[in-house]
Amino acid sequence: MSDLKPPYQSSSNGDLIIRTSEGIEYHVHKFLIANMSPIFADMLPIPQPVAGPEPTKPVVDVTEPMHIWSAILDLCYFQEAAFEDPSGTVETVQALLEAGKKYEMCAVTSRARRALLHPPFLACHPLSVYALACAYQLEDVARRAARETLSLPPVPPFVPGFELISVRTLCHLFDYRKACASAACDALSLARGRIQPWMQESGCWESVRFSCGDRNCPLLRARLDEKVHGIWKTKEYPQALVEYLERLCEKLNGEVRPSLATSPDLLMAFIGSATTACPKCAVKVAGSIVPFSTATECMIERCISGITLEFEPSL
Ligand SMILES: [Zn+2]
Repeated sequence: MSDLKPPYQSSSNGDLIIRTSEGIEYHVHKFLIANMSPIFADMLPIPQPVAGPEPTKPVVDVTEPMHIWSAILDLCYFQEAAFEDPSGTVETVQALLEAGKKYEMCAVTSRARRALLHPPFLACHPLSVYALACAYQLEDVARRAARETLSLPPVPPFVPGFELISVRTLCHLFDYRKACASAACDALSLARGRIQPWMQESGCWESVRFSCGDRNCPLLRARLDEKVHGIWKTKEYPQALVEYLERLCEKLNGEVRPSLATSPDLLMAFIGSATTACPKCAVKVAGSIVPFSTATECMIERCISGITLEFEPSL
């Protein structure tokens, strides 16, 4: 935005005064504000020709403070608005959503929607964005925000915006989180000692289960079943793989974050146990965790994408 004073701050402009809650007067052109808001259009029907040398402008007292009205008028005059600034607060975006609703200003709502989805803002305030999206019926925003909340600790703090939504709406978020964690853990589970098809198809499977063939190979192994041409066959896999999957599942019950699959502590634990036991096996087995963990991360991502948040607008 330029350093020049916006036109609505100059008393020589406009044919209407909008007076903010602090008593600040903005000099506005009726046709511009009426064009933006059907509520104002109804309020200001006919331009009144005023006789005499000093025409007076009608005054509309509004309940919003000046920083909200300057954002609205910036949008009105310049098609830009200060609230796209990522440092904007949740309270400001909420006030704009409220003004957008009250004065039926689609342009304001749409800019506020973009502010909610602005990546730094969303990353910083995912719970507030979820609450505001539910309160103002922005379904796509609510879904994006819910996805973003998965990497938070399981018990969220009370944040601005929660006062706008019902307990039920908040429960939908918890249910979504639980469903995502459980879908991911199901995909990682070796239930009934069985390897899952996606693991076999992960491209690095041959290396994961590589064995030097030595009968006295000291690498700890677990016996698991793998489906070969439709028939279950028992084979041996590094015990470290079973532990990797179990520990990852435990972590996912805290934060539902796909990148946990490639977290250094899990990878190092696997590599450590593979390299110390048998140097001959280590060559292939230790490195196999890198592509396998990447395949695992993709799998978790896919599980989460398959879960749908139940959206229920709160107002
Ligand atoms: Zn070996």
